[in-house]
Amino acid sequence: MKADSGRQEHGGHQKFEMKQETIERIRKFTEDRDWEQFHTPSNLAKSISIEAGELLECFQWSDTDFDREHVKEELADVIVYCQNMLDELGLDADEIVNAKMDKNEAKYPVEKAKGNALKYDKL
Ligand SMILES: [Mg+2]
Repeated sequence: MKADSGRQEHGGHQKFEMKQETIERIRKFTEDRDWEQFHTPSNLAKSISIEAGELLECFQWSDTDFDREHVKEELADVIVYCQNMLDELGLDADEIVNAKMDKNEAKYPVEKAKGNALKYDKL
């Protein structure tokens, strides 16, 4: 079954923001199960990668025919583990993403990168 990407129906841009109560729910889920002991940086990095693989699996046989509900679940898994990693390392998502965007903007100046997908060292 072909699934619409949802981009058009939602105006093209969605905000990425998690409510504090959602973050607390993720933390409580872990604490209630005494799973902090397993949340080493290494285990969380592996888990993010594994869940990203499950997300990619949704598109294994087709770029356009995918199960949107399954994509939502796997994307949520990635995000939950990313939040766990932020907590484990004491990091702020806005801070680290903005620091990285500063670097990305320097590596990919609009005048060189606009309209192509070349890596920065090929620009
Ligand atoms: Mg999963």
